[in-house]
Amino acid sequence: DGPLLDVRDLDVFLPAPSGPVRIIDRVSFTVDAGRTTGLIGESGSGKTMTAMAVIGLLPQGAVTRGGLWWRGENLLTAGPRRRRRVRGREIAMIFQDPLASLNPSQTVGRQVTEIPRRDGMSRRELTATAAELLGRVGIPEPARRASNYPHQFSGGMRQRAMTALALAGKPRLILADEPTTALDVTVQARILDMLRNLREQENTAMVLVSHDLRVMAHVADDLVVMYAGRVCERGPARDLLRRPLHPYTKALVESVPAVHTKTAIAAPLPGSPANPAQRPSGCAFHPRCPLTRVMADDGAAAHERCRTEEPEVLEVAPGRWSGCHFAGVLHDERSSTRVAGR
Ligand code: SF4
Repeated sequence: DGPLLDVRDLDVFLPAPSGPVRIIDRVSFTVDAGRTTGLIGESGSGKTMTAMAVIGLLPQGAVTRGGLWWRGENLLTAGPRRRRRVRGREIAMIFQDPLASLNPSQTVGRQVTEIPRRDGMSRRELTATAAELLGRVGIPEPARRASNYPHQFSGGMRQRAMTALALAGKPRLILADEPTTALDVTVQARILDMLRNLREQENTAMVLVSHDLRVMAHVADDLVVMYAGRVCERGPARDLLRRPLHPYTKALVESVPAVHTKTAIAAPLPGSPANPAQRPSGCAFHPRCPLTRVMADDGAAAHERCRTEEPEVLEVAPGRWSGCHFAGVLHDERSSTRVAGR
């Protein structure tokens, strides 16, 4: 069996005053059934845009190249009806702010049973289904809470309700965009545990978008590290975090605080993220890269190859893909940095 989702060489352009900007530049990765793939990067890395392309929320014509293969079928060339069906049923999305996605004037129970209702379920069955769905995401007294409105739920409960809503259509893949960022640390951990359990119980695959490496260390099986709209590195999460094969990943891993705090992981990284509208030449990370300086001759700020030649994302070791000209150097280093939570 091939992967559930195969994103191949995806390009996304968005309009800007000075002309269309390539926000996503040849992004490729796969998601296997029952596994969680994490898309990680700073703001502007293109991780959310990639998820939006998968779920079909980008404006018409934004995706200019590449393929979004869903169980062997390219969604980019499928008819609109087929695409709507896949994206409504087989792929579901949960967002950072459930309040923006839940309808304030309908009970939570009614909202989570929207799809079964369309399928012609009886009233009694709908009541039972609402309680069952809310129970599955860990809402206490689900039968009673089904008649509550979203404002009667706490932030964590709303995120659970949002997840129940996503589960209602029995999706094979859930896209979750920063699902815990707005929550406090303890609630965050509980929601992440819930997502992890769901994957185990329901065999649902997940694409998790987050800027937080600790969240990824907790939940992701595979990781795609993004920078300025490109993939830096991808591979199995555990291996990738222990032994990064891209200087950007290495810097991210080394900047994770040893204790569980709310500090954004990217903060201690020197310099600011590259803007895809003014992507640096060659390797987009070169102005911030510590390795390029080491590799440069004569004390130059960056190795000439990094400044002029855009690296290809290549398989450096089995299952490990890196878009760094000098990935081999990192591979040989065999650094064994550990991340809290792993
Ligand atoms: Fe650094 Fe060069 Fe590798 Fe880019 S290609 S990450 S600049 S060493």
